[in-house]
Amino acid sequence: MSDFQERLAATQAILERIADDFEPAVFASSLAAEDMVLTDLILRKKLNITIFSLETGRLHAETLGMLDKVKETYGTEIKLFKPDAAAVENYVSQHGLNAFYDSVEMRKECCRIRKVEPLKRALAGNKAWVTGQRRAQSATRTELAIQEDDATHGLQKFNPLADWSEDDVWHYLRSNNVPYNPLHDKGYPSIGCEPCTRAIQPGEDVRAGRWWWENPDSKECGLHVVDGKLIRIKQAV
Ligand code: SF4
Repeated sequence: MSDFQERLAATQAILERIADDFEPAVFASSLAAEDMVLTDLILRKKLNITIFSLETGRLHAETLGMLDKVKETYGTEIKLFKPDAAAVENYVSQHGLNAFYDSVEMRKECCRIRKVEPLKRALAGNKAWVTGQRRAQSATRTELAIQEDDATHGLQKFNPLADWSEDDVWHYLRSNNVPYNPLHDKGYPSIGCEPCTRAIQPGEDVRAGRWWWENPDSKECGLHVVDGKLIRIKQAV
């Protein structure tokens, strides 16, 4: 068995264990490449893991189009969690629709309203959640465990692709004909909200297109917390 086949078999086994031993379990999908691998593995085997996405209200049309592609391909609808409408209205009326460009605080407040709070709701009442994070995505992910105790949300967190390479991801997607976000072919290795993501140039860091106007040290959206500290991520859920 090749190394890739071993990693794939291990990932399938982890997902089956989550479905069997951690009911109810959810998978937080950003609809990006890694998450389409997990979507395919979960839905092909009809595993008992509910897939959801955070519909921030500011996603690219291409990302929203993935919801239809998943439905067409697998006959399953991804559950959507949206921000509290009153909180969004309040932010926009007080600060403006795109106030996140004004300061790190305004950006974090927008992420809190549109991502962090809906994530909390999405995870409530579950025993485990699954993410598509990989160790190779950034220097801060090198210690990423397959299973972590998520004390912030009070459940187990699984990263079944932790030891996959980017080549593994694309090999899986292409050899299994899995649909993927067309933005990946247009210079977007990492995809978040439309106004906060842009294409990168060859040779740039994969995260260079996220919140590009900010100092790299402030780039996080608050979705992933390790040992009480926010960590940087390649793609926001
Ligand atoms: S990524 Fe940008 S638009 Fe999306 S929630 Fe964060 S600040 Fe708001």
